[in-house]
Parts: sequence; structure tokens; C-alpha cells
Amino acid sequence: MKATIITIGDEILIGQILDTNSRYISRALNAHGIVVAERTSIGDNRAQIIETLDRALAQSEVVIITGGLGPTKDDITKHTLCDYFGSTLRYDEREAEHIRTMLEVRNIAFNELNRGQAMVPECCTVLHNAHGTAPGMWFEREGRVVISLPGVPFEMQHLIDDEVMPRLCKQFELREIVHRTMITFGIAESILAERIAAWEDALPEYLHLAYLPAPNVVRLRLSAYEVEGKEVSREIDAQFTKLQEIIPNNIAGFEEASVEELVHNILTEKGLTLAVAESCTGGVIASKFTAQAGASTYFLCGVVAYSNDIKCNVLGVKYADIERVGAVSEAVAMSMADGARAISGANFAISTTGIAGPTGGSAEKPVGTVWIGISTPTKTYAVLKHCGTDRSQIISRASAYAIALLYEELKSIK
Ligand code: ATP
Ligand code: MG
Repeated sequence: MKATIITIGDEILIGQILDTNSRYISRALNAHGIVVAERTSIGDNRAQIIETLDRALAQSEVVIITGGLGPTKDDITKHTLCDYFGSTLRYDEREAEHIRTMLEVRNIAFNELNRGQAMVPECCTVLHNAHGTAPGMWFEREGRVVISLPGVPFEMQHLIDDEVMPRLCKQFELREIVHRTMITFGIAESILAERIAAWEDALPEYLHLAYLPAPNVVRLRLSAYEVEGKEVSREIDAQFTKLQEIIPNNIAGFEEASVEELVHNILTEKGLTLAVAESCTGGVIASKFTAQAGASTYFLCGVVAYSNDIKCNVLGVKYADIERVGAVSEAVAMSMADGARAISGANFAISTTGIAGPTGGSAEKPVGTVWIGISTPTKTYAVLKHCGTDRSQIISRASAYAIALLYEELKSIK
């Protein structure tokens, strides 16, 4: 079964807000086996709403619309839908009472605009919005459903979870959508694709493979749409087993776990500890670990050693090394990692020192040059990575590479 999502609001088109509603609704539909055929954002414009609705109804059984239900003149979705379905508005006492109560709590008087909010098309089923003043609406035509929800994400989410999904599940016989992900590691996307080409070609037709690359990590997602879930899951298991034989040393895990989550799990399970010394990544690595609940069991410290003085005075980097080879160098990356391990007593430490730009690059060390250091109980070394040219991309790639390096070390301990 197919669905189209239409988000309405001039503010989306001008980039004032990000359309997060579509994502939420897509996930909910997917989880219940409904394939999202299209997502579209349009303005608060009557002709555009009608045209988009026509197209959506031609291709899908379910159309979900958000936005434009407010009491102000720029919100026109309800009137447009009412006309589209050849209906007229009626005053809904129950919704009016609810709006009055919600306003009372906030000490706002019920006025003509609010009265307008309690008007609903005769032909629709009202979806009660317990968390807001604009009710949702459920229309039907020739077995197809059009659902209109308020744009406010919190209200929309409650209506999706409490009203829309239960009703869709009751009304339609839904099949499953199965997505399964394998996380591969340490092979570039193009090389990986080459290596698994024969496996990919031999996949059953109903399994779709997607490559989702990130620094040092490529996620392989197998998807099957509108299927019998159990059998497909078994088939995917079998396919992943074959893949494990082709790239035995490059599999980091399954499903959606991030590399920092994988590291978090290993450190927690093995009772090992971690320290981080960051220059160009400015604390991003530390924050990726501390964002995870339970990090305090292994995360001992993060030092953002931006200046050379701090690199030397706190982490024990040698001034002579900085003078000799510069702060962005193998020697300094290694000393930073060793220093973080020494001051914290952690089992493992990682470090970053690089040129995040836009200035500070040279022919020898262009913007994007990053040395990543690692100090373990048995060895210390550093690797050189070129992380691109854009500052925020450099920071995020360098962080990802550093965490990936740590993961590779942790994976190899027995
Ligand atoms: P209300 O009855 O509360 O006015 P509404 O249906 O009129 O709701 P809009 O006025 O279109 O909704 O949007 C209300 C707010 O919800 C917007 O200011 C915006 O911040 C947010 N919003 C609207 N559409 C989206 C969307 N697609 N994704 C994320 N946020 C959205
Ligand atoms: Mg609006």
C-alpha cells in the first residue's frame, strides 16, 4: 500500500523551518508496512493544494497532509479540503469546548478566530487533538483516505500515534516492510561495491540493496517492501551470512548502531576506560561519547588542547617537537594521546590535531590535514587523514576517523 505525504507551509519553502514532520510520518508508515511513494512540500496556496492532492490520490491509497490548520488567514488547508470534498463546515461543540478549556488555562479569551477552529467539514471524521486547538481530519473517497493534521510537530506526532496509525491498521490489511542494516568498516564504498558485486547481483529480486557511506563506515541496507516478514528476515540473515564470508574482517555490526555506540558497548563490556585529547575537533569526540547514557563508567576525560601551551603544559607534548615538525604532526598526535592516557590513567586514548581551516593551510599541510593519534596499553601510533576542505566537514570527518581507529583497536583485543 502506498502513501503520499504533503507538508504545507510557506515557512518550509523559504527555509525558515525544516520539514521534520515528513520524517516522523515516513517512519511511522514504514513501521506499519506502508510504502511512502512521495513527499512534497508546498505553500499555503489553494491551487497548489488541490493540484498536489489530485496527483497524490492518483498514486496512493493514503495521503497525509500537515500544516495550515491554524486560525489565521494564511492557514487555508481546512477550507480547501472542505471544498475539495464538496462539503460544508459545521460547528463542532465538543471541539469548541476543548479549545475553550485549552485557552482558559492560558488565560486567553475564546474569540471569533477560535470559533473558526471548531468548524469542521461535515463529511470528515474529526481526529481529536488533545494537545492543541486545531483538530485533525479524516476524509474518505472511493476507498482512499486523506488525513489532515496540524503542523505543530508535537501535536502532529500525538495524532499520528494515537489516532492515525491505529485507524489505518484497522481499515487496511497491511503487510510488512523489512529493513536490515549491516555496518561495514575500513573499506571505501567503491572498493566494497567491487568486492561484493557478485553477491549483489545474485540477490533475490525483492531485496533492494542501498549503500549508506560515512567516514570509514559504509552501511549496507537490505530492504523488502510489502512482504511476509518472517521469511524475508530469514532470507536476509542468509544473505548477510554469505556477505560475512566475503568480507570477514570488515563487519562492525548490525542495524543502526553508530561507531561510538559500538565503542561504548565494547568499553562497557570489557571494563576498559577512555580519554580523549582534541585539538581541531574541539570536543566533538568527547561529546559523542558523553551523549550516551552510561558513559561515566569508561569515559575519564576529554582535553580540548587548542593552544600549543596547553598541548605542552597539560598533555606533556614537547615544545621542541612542535618547533621541529609543527603542531599538526605525527609526533604531536602521538604525544597528545600518550599525555591524555597518562594524566587520566585510562586504558585507551585518542587524539586529533589538524587544520580545520579556512585559514592556516600550507602547501605541505593543506586545510583538512589531520593527524589522529591513539595510545593503547601496548603501543602508540598516529595516522594521517585528509578530511576535506569545509571546516564543519573536516571536524566531523576527523572525529569519525578517530572513533573508527579506536574501534578497530578495540575489536582486535580478545
Ligand atoms: P496551529 O493550529 O498550531 O496554528 P497549523 O496546522 O496551522 O497549526 P502551521 O501554522 O502550518 O500549523 O505550523 C505551525 C508551526 O508548526 C509552524 O510555525 C512550524 O514551526 C511547525 N511546522 C509546520 N509544519 C512543519 C513541518 N512540516 N515540519 C516541522 N515543523 C512544522
Ligand atoms: Mg501555516
